[in-house]
Amino acid sequence: MVIVGCGVIGAAIAYELSQSPDLVITVIDPHPPASGSTGAALGVAMAVISQKAKGRNWRLREQSLRRYQTLLPELEATLGHPIQHNQGILSLVFDPKALPRWQSLQAIRQGQGYRLELWTPDQILERCPYLAVSQAVMGIYSPQDIQVHPTELTQALITAAAQRGVSFHVGEAVVGFEAVTAGEPPQATCTEVHTPTQIFAADRVILAAGLGSTPLTASLHQPTILGPVLGQGLRLHLPNPLDSSEVPLVINGNDIHLVPLGGGDYWIGATVEFPANPDDPEAAIAEFLAHPPDPTRLDEVFQGALAYCPALAQGTITDRWFGLRPRPQSQAAPVLKPLEGYQNVMLATGHYRNGVLLAPATALAVRDWVYGVT
Ligand SMILES: Cc1cc2nc3c(=O)[nH]c(=O)nc-3n(C[C@H](O)[C@H](O)[C@H](O)COP(=O)(O)OP(=O)(O)OC[C@H]3O[C@@H](n4cnc5c(N)ncnc54)[C@H](O)[C@@H]3O)c2cc1C
Repeated sequence: MVIVGCGVIGAAIAYELSQSPDLVITVIDPHPPASGSTGAALGVAMAVISQKAKGRNWRLREQSLRRYQTLLPELEATLGHPIQHNQGILSLVFDPKALPRWQSLQAIRQGQGYRLELWTPDQILERCPYLAVSQAVMGIYSPQDIQVHPTELTQALITAAAQRGVSFHVGEAVVGFEAVTAGEPPQATCTEVHTPTQIFAADRVILAAGLGSTPLTASLHQPTILGPVLGQGLRLHLPNPLDSSEVPLVINGNDIHLVPLGGGDYWIGATVEFPANPDDPEAAIAEFLAHPPDPTRLDEVFQGALAYCPALAQGTITDRWFGLRPRPQSQAAPVLKPLEGYQNVMLATGHYRNGVLLAPATALAVRDWVYGVT
């Protein structure tokens, strides 16, 4: 079993598959784990509080939510240390026209066995006195949704998988494959995965290379195009934490997240910036990486957070960063299916804005593919 890519997706797959002692698993990545999109993510996992109520998108979110409930304690027990995460998301609603939509979602979620609470501005202030609610018409509180530190999670998945015998080959990219074609209709089988210095024999190949999946699928003559969408975020330190309760909430307002990290530290983000040349993803990636990102876009996000949480003005910005989200072109995110024409290659990529949220469900889908469960 060769997994190409060691972001949160490749790591989650490696961990889930490592529970089967009969599998020999190798993960290959040219870079240290979580140095792609995963390293830039905020790790907000909006499942119950998302507007997706049915279909594949809801199913994957729900599977992830359920798996996270067991996965985090499982990893923490295995490794003997905590993984930073938050329980509970509060989303501020500013548009009165959106209220019926939330009320109907609340009823749907109740039928699905999940809780969503609709808070009045007074109730918001009672729980979160640091928020400015004059513009808010309501708060949607989802106690079951979580946020998890993407790098800590990825590292934990890797450590736990390595303990179960998974090999991690970091420092070299996959540069090609060997495949044979047979049968009627013809089906290809990928037999080898090549790096510049090594050849890995493979019974199955899982492509979890984020934006790097485009050239890999092209080399297998089945191009799956992923374009980059830039995201910027910042870290801020406040002398006094906003929320001294045991369970500080992740706040969302106008698609801007405020993530408590403990000790008065917060992540705020993220921008969503589309490339100027979307038709040429390789050029778009190169263009994004050639220039520093536009600081005014991140400032706008910060101003948006200040509008609903003025106390952030007392803070000091201690870090700014950016990353590129892998967004599929001409198909829905994520791309989670066997590679067309191949009987043993699976695509687990293109998670766009939700890779941390969907990593557990993705890993379960790959496990089902490996064991022939449909
Ligand atoms: C600013 C920002 C905020 C975000 N916030 C959230 C959030 O709150 N919640 C959420 O769920 N998601 C969020 N995301 C999205 C999330 O980061 C991605 O969906 C997710 O990280 C994708 O994971 P991945 O493992 O597929 O990709 P990556 O993390 O990019 O990993 C892919 C790996 O493949 C490797 N690779 C590439 N080419 C090759 C090759 N040829 N051979 C071997 N390896 C290769 C790369 O080196 C890389 O390590 C955010 C993203 C950004 C940028």
